[in-house]
Amino acid sequence: MNSNYKNIIENAYNKAKSLKDKGQLATYIPELANVDPSMFGVHMTKVDGSNFGIGNYLIKFSIQSIAKVLSLTMAYSILGEKLWKRIDVEPSGTKFDSLLLLETYNGIPRNPFVNSGAIVICDVLVSHLDNAKEEFLEFVRDLSGLPELTYSDKIADSEKAYGYRNSALCNFIKSFGNIKNEPAEVLDFYFDMCSLEMNCQQLSYTFTFLANGGRKLVDGKKIISKSKCKRINALMLTCGFYDESGEFAFKVGLPGKSGVGGGIVALYPNNYTIAVWSPLLNPKGNSYKGMKLLEDVTTYSELSIF
Ligand code: GLU
Repeated sequence: MNSNYKNIIENAYNKAKSLKDKGQLATYIPELANVDPSMFGVHMTKVDGSNFGIGNYLIKFSIQSIAKVLSLTMAYSILGEKLWKRIDVEPSGTKFDSLLLLETYNGIPRNPFVNSGAIVICDVLVSHLDNAKEEFLEFVRDLSGLPELTYSDKIADSEKAYGYRNSALCNFIKSFGNIKNEPAEVLDFYFDMCSLEMNCQQLSYTFTFLANGGRKLVDGKKIISKSKCKRINALMLTCGFYDESGEFAFKVGLPGKSGVGGGIVALYPNNYTIAVWSPLLNPKGNSYKGMKLLEDVTTYSELSIF
């Protein structure tokens, strides 16, 4: 990797590392509270294949909501534009697990990245696949070229035991007819999907197809069309950071997605993907240091989509 990028990442990493972290661990999923809060890693993969990581970038973590981009990719490639009859493409401006707007919009979630939208995506996959849990994992392993990727049963079980809000969301949407399967089955898959684990290197590698016009880096295999790739990136830019999506676009200026495990992945089309992990979250649920680091990377590289 060109030494310019390395220096920028190293400097941004060291600067963010020295900050006093004002974040908090996500504790509403009990197992996430057991993570070492001092973990901090970052990894960049360029579309020319060069890559660079620093810190704890080889330690696996729970990618949580970041997996919603991958389940959307799978559902979108199965259902095409019909998908948007069941989910909208607007920022929600509410918390990720809010029930508020479902009443207003008759059970149509605002976008595929709030929990309600991701639950509808899981319903689509449960309807179209024989075994959604296995086939989704195979899909992710194939698109990333990483056969070693797995779910964490520990995390999934921990969330299943306390997933009251997600159960409420799923049942509420079902009452409007926008969940076709049994809520218990859909939720089971939703929690498994969120329990996917990756390290920063694997995460940045997995997302390269979205920086590469929908094609895998290694062999050019088409995962999704250019048009779908554009739309998924647009959704990440407008809806990828809960009700801090505007702030992320404003300060970082890249499409990206965060998760309550403290991971963030972002990408600069035709150029690079970058994954960062620091588990302490700001009040909006995004990694405190991760946001700071990415802001510095785009500021000092002077490379963002704007
Ligand atoms: N599994 C988490 C939940 O449903 C995902 C939340 C997130 O990462 O934003 O609460």
